Amino acid sequence: MKAITKSQEETILFGKKFAKTLTGGEVVLLIGDLGAGKTTFVKGVASGLGVKNIITSPTFVLMKSYKTNNIKIKNLVHIDVYRGLALVDLENIGALEHFGERDTICLVEWGGALEEYCLKERINLKKVSIKNISQNTREFIY
Ligand code: ADP
Ligand code: MG
Repeated sequence: MKAITKSQEETILFGKKFAKTLTGGEVVLLIGDLGAGKTTFVKGVASGLGVKNIITSPTFVLMKSYKTNNIKIKNLVHIDVYRGLALVDLENIGALEHFGERDTICLVEWGGALEEYCLKERINLKKVSIKNISQNTREFIY
């Protein structure tokens, strides 16, 4: 499916709506250039699941974990593998053990390279591609 947002706020709203489609155990791979709106989208998903903490980019720490107030989806794990990171690194920081956990949603920025791994492990995978159309316009393919 396709969606267009025309502001940061609209992307957050779109993330909130997207959160309603999640059931738990999904790994969401976010594909898009720097400044596309990946982190903004995660903020929306987190808000949709009732995360109270402020979401900040995990670029330097690679992974941040948040408690939600959703009954089924209890944790949101936000991973940023900036322009790609080896699978072994994700294993080392303990990220992979959250993939497919039934009460957890994982969202991975720059996660395109993990598709093969997720398919092999039979992890429920969702891909969200974000394209920068103009200064404030973004196209989401999901
Ligand atoms: P990424 O994580 O993909 O690098 P961010 O979400 O951190 O991107 O940043 C997106 C930037 O683009 C923010 O500065 C935001 O204000 C701006 N922006 C402009 N229009 C939009 C939009 N429609 N959706 C999301 N962000 C937008
Ligand atoms: Mg980001």
